[in-house]
Amino acid sequence: MPDEPILIAGGGLGGLAVALALGKQGRRVRVLEQTAELGAIGYGIQLGPNVFPMFERLGIVDAVLAQSIIPRACIMFDALTGAEVTRIPGEAALRQRFGGPYIVIHRVDLHGVLLDACKAQPGITLEPLTSVASFEQDDTRVVVTTDDGRRIEGAALIGADGLRSAVRAQIVNDGEPKPIGYVAHRTILPIDRVPDGVQKDISAIWIGPGFHLVHYPLRHDALFNIVAVFRTGTFGEKGDLDFHADEVERTYRTAHPLIKSMLALMDLNRRWVIGDRDPVRHWSQGRVTVLGDAAHPALQTFAQGACMAIEDAATLAACVEHEQDFTAAFRAYEKARIVRTARVQLEGRSMWDGYHADGIARDVWLQTFARDERAVCECLSWLYDGVTLPGTNARTSAA
Ligand SMILES: Cc1cc2nc3c(=O)[nH]c(=O)nc-3n(C[C@H](O)[C@H](O)[C@H](O)COP(=O)(O)OP(=O)(O)OC[C@H]3O[C@@H](n4cnc5c(N)ncnc54)[C@H](O)[C@@H]3O)c2cc1C
Repeated sequence: MPDEPILIAGGGLGGLAVALALGKQGRRVRVLEQTAELGAIGYGIQLGPNVFPMFERLGIVDAVLAQSIIPRACIMFDALTGAEVTRIPGEAALRQRFGGPYIVIHRVDLHGVLLDACKAQPGITLEPLTSVASFEQDDTRVVVTTDDGRRIEGAALIGADGLRSAVRAQIVNDGEPKPIGYVAHRTILPIDRVPDGVQKDISAIWIGPGFHLVHYPLRHDALFNIVAVFRTGTFGEKGDLDFHADEVERTYRTAHPLIKSMLALMDLNRRWVIGDRDPVRHWSQGRVTVLGDAAHPALQTFAQGACMAIEDAATLAACVEHEQDFTAAFRAYEKARIVRTARVQLEGRSMWDGYHADGIARDVWLQTFARDERAVCECLSWLYDGVTLPGTNARTSAA
């Protein structure tokens, strides 16, 4: 393959992971990131055991674990009664079954680990304030045009530019993500402000009719991350703090008192409208491809968006290493990833309905979710067993 640099649009988790994987092969990579500072913002993120073999390939297992918390367990609660519905087992059982733990980490810290590792690779250049607008390609190269009119040439282009990807728009052309009628509020606060009675050392999801709430500890148990997600007809409107607070109070009026005590601590100023896309069969075109949210954004049901982006990155780099040219490599990468990522999207949608069901459907879902730990592991094995990378013949266990 040619020695010109590979261009990567977007320096988020997926973009830096693929930059690092390619950089470690000795390739030249230019990461074009629209913001002034790479990864300066963010909330908590959960990562399943399937991501650890990828971290091992990237050489960052120890650095990630040093910044992570391994929750005592991941527990689903009925948001109305407070009863436990089911749980993913704790560390020892997960390591034994899947070869790695379930972790929670501040997104900024994970991004920092990837950034430091990228900076240590001589072939990687990080270019902030570079917003990719469009691309052209011929048989030998790709030329990217930026929003401010610059033209940047490379051997190939990887769009890791997120949910509203400019690179995807040119390949798939399926418009804006579709709002699903739900919004999210996120807050990080000092853990000593968390009310008594809340289990601070677990990753928790409370499911209720039309709403859920997620919480877990962060940063060596100094911080606490809370995410409130709910259905609302006003998702498209611009509201202020009073409007949001009033709506949250009404939505969660039947919720368990512990949920209400956590909502009272949340900063409700900012809200995220949750959007979705349908899975597609192809997301590559010649020497251009996309990964992560640009390729297959999923609802947060499985908390796997970042894991999928990082699996994509490792798979894509392995394909580049083992194929003759970029077109063949991107075709092989796409083929390796399509069904798995579409399953996360589609099963995630179905479970999303289950999380938020009302009436008799809610009773059915609660019974469906109520599995013992062994059955939960079996249900998640398609996901947590991870992937075999092209050119390797075994799933490596890592952590
Ligand atoms: C409420 C919520 C909770 C979540 N929780 C979890 C979780 O617990 N676990 C999990 O695994 N996932 C979770 N996710 C999903 C996860 O955040 C994403 O799937 C993941 O960040 C995708 O990574 P990415 O690199 O593809 O995209 P992003 O992280 O969105 O990065 C895209 C990057 O591209 C840059 N960019 C955008 N456009 C351009 C352009 N035109 N030119 C140059 N640069 C550009 C952006 O500035 C950004 O840096 C959650 C998402 C939400 C909304």
